[in-house]
Amino acid sequence: MERIIYSLAFDITRRCNLNCDFCYKGKSQNDDITKEVIDKTLDSIKEERIEILSILGGEPTLNIQMIEYLIDGIINRGIYVYSISMFTNGLICDESILPVLTKAREYLENVIAEKNDRIHKFITMKKNYNPRVRITISTAHHRNENAIEKAKQFYEQLASPFFVVYVQEQFDEQEVRIILNGNAIENYKTILSKNTTYKQINFENSDEYYFIEYLSTIDAAEMQRCILVTTNGNVVCNSTKSYSYIDSKPVFNICRNNNGLWEEIDAWCWKHPIGGNARMMRNYKDAMLFLSENMGTSFSNYDKNLIRITNNIIDELEIFCLSAHNEYPFLNFGDIERIAAARYIKINKTIMSKRDLLFYIWRVTDFQSYDLLEEMYVSDEWENTFIGKIEGNTNYCLYASIVHSINNILNT
Ligand code: SF4
Repeated sequence: MERIIYSLAFDITRRCNLNCDFCYKGKSQNDDITKEVIDKTLDSIKEERIEILSILGGEPTLNIQMIEYLIDGIINRGIYVYSISMFTNGLICDESILPVLTKAREYLENVIAEKNDRIHKFITMKKNYNPRVRITISTAHHRNENAIEKAKQFYEQLASPFFVVYVQEQFDEQEVRIILNGNAIENYKTILSKNTTYKQINFENSDEYYFIEYLSTIDAAEMQRCILVTTNGNVVCNSTKSYSYIDSKPVFNICRNNNGLWEEIDAWCWKHPIGGNARMMRNYKDAMLFLSENMGTSFSNYDKNLIRITNNIIDELEIFCLSAHNEYPFLNFGDIERIAAARYIKINKTIMSKRDLLFYIWRVTDFQSYDLLEEMYVSDEWENTFIGKIEGNTNYCLYASIVHSINNILNT
């Protein structure tokens, strides 16, 4: 079975020439990615396809040499990368980056022209897919206003259908969205105390999410969200983590003994099996607590109740997901989430009204089908019927079950 990594990001350097108040990474550090980290990572994923390769920092253009090493590493290994994205604050426009980006653009053009199989079509026909090298010039509150136009012109020298320059949209001053990590923790009072109409706060601890789906129709599996490899080889899920989080809670380190990037992340994700909607509700709970404790914000009783009940349900569903995964290790997260929901409904239908029960489950799960919830409510045998159908389909998750059996043999 082939595998697709939706987004693989590298912190090329932790150095930065700015020190933005809201920076979720934290203070600039004198630390650059090593060749070993890049080589070990690329060797570990050279059989996979990468939808988006992201070049991050710090300010990545402070280390053009390692950007080139990364691009060469991709090209020399012939790894299929479908788009490349670099974020910069635009203050450095160093000519030596142009040939590196040209090389990246030409490589992408070749990949797109050469490949024409089912996985390739699956990736390239996605709604948001763009086969490009994309340079994003960050703007929001960066104090880099004077550099933006010059940086745009500098990168637009390479403009083509395969190369775009994008200036990040300016946020409304009244609108605050912060990721409460790094510098933003020190500065949140100043940022949030402005007369804001909208406050969205994200916490890195709430951001645990299952990543891998088995796409049985195209015989592939997809790691759905972003994997970040930082300068020292620590790997985390999701790129919006502070340096302190990345260094204290890495999933693993690519330079130490490990089972490979895909396997390490799959195992880690199963320790936190909640979906996107549940994650959002947990984050909302953390934000509500934070705002009422630190900013004196008040919330309606309806909101408080909704958050309390849904978060209790999420905690229970997570336990059901863990036990269902132990019983059916070959199933993907979507199916395990369905089984957990069916078990929850079966146990609670004599305690809660049907309307409340299905509404809350609908809020916190990702499958979002009210008809399916109705089916679970009506039939106490829903789980058995569902598993029966899966076991009747011999192709289903064949790859996952083989890997699981091999692991069992190796572990005994
Ligand atoms: S937000 Fe970007 S430019 Fe600003 S300090 Fe952080 S890494 Fe540097």
